[in-house]
Amino acid sequence: MQSFFPAPTLDSARVVVLSGAGVGNPLFYAELLRLGFELGTLPDFALMAAITFIDTVVSHEPLTDRLLFHELVHVVQYEKLGLPEFAAKYAGGFLRGGCYERIPLEMNAYQLDERFAAAPAESFSVVDEVQSWINAGRL
Ligand SMILES: [Zn+2]
Repeated sequence: MQSFFPAPTLDSARVVVLSGAGVGNPLFYAELLRLGFELGTLPDFALMAAITFIDTVVSHEPLTDRLLFHELVHVVQYEKLGLPEFAAKYAGGFLRGGCYERIPLEMNAYQLDERFAAAPAESFSVVDEVQSWINAGRL
């Protein structure tokens, strides 16, 4: 990952791989259900391959290089945006797009992990790529 991420990001990131356990949905889901959201329309944390909380990647399955790369993109997004803005953009992206796949923070991470998977030997700066999305107002 050193060809794509700065050393401080890699040094600070932590990885937890769960076995026989899963991350539960956020407590505020109960409030969303009271507001009229339907459970099936909300992203189910238990079904996600991995979830990143600031600098900690929690995976429900053994990490592939591509999955680790994807989650490290989220670490960079957290670093650049800070937790409050990341959370606001994530939730706002979900509400505007209507599904997990249309959250711009996810679209950014998927685009970059696709690029990595297509050519793992061709280095690029994830920090620069995330910053370009921020500058263009795409997140
Ligand atoms: Zn993601």
